[in-house]
Amino acid sequence: MSPTQHYGVAVVGGGPVGMLLAAELGLRGVRTVVLERHTRTVDQPKAGTLHARTVQSLARRGLLPTGRGGAPDRAATTPFHFAGLPGLTISAPAVEGRPIAGRSQADLERDFERRARELGVEIRRGHEVVGLAQDPDRVEVTARLGDGRHATVTADYAVGADGARSAVRALAGIASDEHPPRVAALLGQVRLLDPAGTPPGWNLTPRGWTVVNVNPFGHSRVITFDFDGPHPDRHAPVTLDELRSTASRIAGHDIPMDDAVFTSRFSDFARLARRYRDGRVLLAGDAAHVHFPVGGQGLNLGLQDAFNLAWKLALVVRGEAGKGLLDTYHDERRPAGRRVVDNTRAQLALMRPGDDMAPLRALFTELLGLDQVSAHLGDMISAQETAYRAAPGSPWQGRFLPNLALEAEGEETCVAALLHTGRPVVLLFPDADPRLAGTAGAWSRTVDVVRVRCAHRLPWDALLLRPDGYVAWTPLQGRRATPQDLRGALRQWFGEPRGPAPLPAAG
Ligand SMILES: Cc1cc2nc3c(=O)[nH]c(=O)nc-3n(C[C@H](O)[C@H](O)[C@H](O)COP(=O)(O)OP(=O)(O)OC[C@H]3O[C@@H](n4cnc5c(N)ncnc54)[C@H](O)[C@@H]3O)c2cc1C
Repeated sequence: MSPTQHYGVAVVGGGPVGMLLAAELGLRGVRTVVLERHTRTVDQPKAGTLHARTVQSLARRGLLPTGRGGAPDRAATTPFHFAGLPGLTISAPAVEGRPIAGRSQADLERDFERRARELGVEIRRGHEVVGLAQDPDRVEVTARLGDGRHATVTADYAVGADGARSAVRALAGIASDEHPPRVAALLGQVRLLDPAGTPPGWNLTPRGWTVVNVNPFGHSRVITFDFDGPHPDRHAPVTLDELRSTASRIAGHDIPMDDAVFTSRFSDFARLARRYRDGRVLLAGDAAHVHFPVGGQGLNLGLQDAFNLAWKLALVVRGEAGKGLLDTYHDERRPAGRRVVDNTRAQLALMRPGDDMAPLRALFTELLGLDQVSAHLGDMISAQETAYRAAPGSPWQGRFLPNLALEAEGEETCVAALLHTGRPVVLLFPDADPRLAGTAGAWSRTVDVVRVRCAHRLPWDALLLRPDGYVAWTPLQGRRATPQDLRGALRQWFGEPRGPAPLPAAG
């Protein structure tokens, strides 16, 4: 029998969230293994919408393009919907690129897997995790292989990114807040036999909703929302007849279709794990939260979990983290999960068919026409409202730093480009106290220090930026940064300075 392998992190589940997390850990040199039960990526029509904050985060690793130059307050906009009501505009700074990018979930998963492998992550497919035990020093994870044998690995930490029915969550005994299902939804990838007679887009009738991406030349995606109660059997296969009769009943006329290449059923069951961390076990993605997929937020939420968790976990594994850093993952991400669970439930309440809801929907449609309302809801759906650990007297602390155009060492650069390495960065602007570079230099093993110029007037002379793009520290409003304040912030986030990284051994 081969000896048990030990890793810094074992990621359970190689869906998009697990693969991104693994790639982010690989980027930081953490010895990482992914245990995934499927032997290959499963192509199923699921997420296809990357919202603005995800686009911006991926751009900070060079995985999506940013926008080009210009003032940070110039906006790019895209129309979206709220609860199926048209009129919502999602807006993002033009310097960030597009507010929405389209990418299939399976393609994204493949991209992240490729990147993770290139960064040295070990991906073990055909490994279904069935056992997990932790002690104060490590986690032991056991997987069942396709041939019935078992394999065990140990790791400093294990992350359950194993989806809605997470084995890790169950094995770790992490309880959840749950909302039982009330809506029965069907999805099918079918050939429409009367595409011109099929109502395209989001359509509400007195009996429910049809949501159809009509493709007259190939397969169309047909979704139905039926508010008459949950599926009697959530796991029963969906037949073409069931999809056709449900869509036709809701639409009020026949919607002929054939050649179903994919069908599934889902519901509005919602769950939010009470803890995202239990000792050496953490949860990310659908393992931590599930909700109705209105607004295309679930995958985005999970990818943001991965961006938030990976750098913290890497610093902890490498012994370069400040006290309590890993606990900030739960503190920061669970409220984000709660926000999405709540907003999807609110949208579903608005979507309920019936005359009594019509005036409320009409009122909401009016409200969506107000810029402030549209901006508020757009920032919520696109997660651009997310901010962490705000600090009184320091209005930028905790906020996502826009992709400012900068000049460093005589070269043009930008905020996003400075984060490609996935390391925290101290930005020193021309007015900064010259001693700050020496202060930050003591943490050079962990933190990059970059002297920059910016054409725009900025409210700080120095700033500490987290690898996920959020501002970790600025001087208090109207004050200059002092070495003492910067040292305090660096110590809080990264512990005592450990000097530069050791040189590789000669020879
Ligand atoms: C119809 C529909 C449309 C959607 N549209 C959108 C959208 O437009 N935008 C959006 O943001 N979200 C959308 N979502 C939600 C999105 O699909 C999920 O949030 C996303 O799949 C979560 O990714 P994940 O990696 O956390 O989990 P998953 O994608 O479920 O991946 C979990 C992985 O873990 C593996 N696994 C499970 N158990 C084990 C085990 N015991 N051992 C080893 N491996 C295991 C699985 O095989 C899988 O590969 C949609 C969902 C549905 C149903």
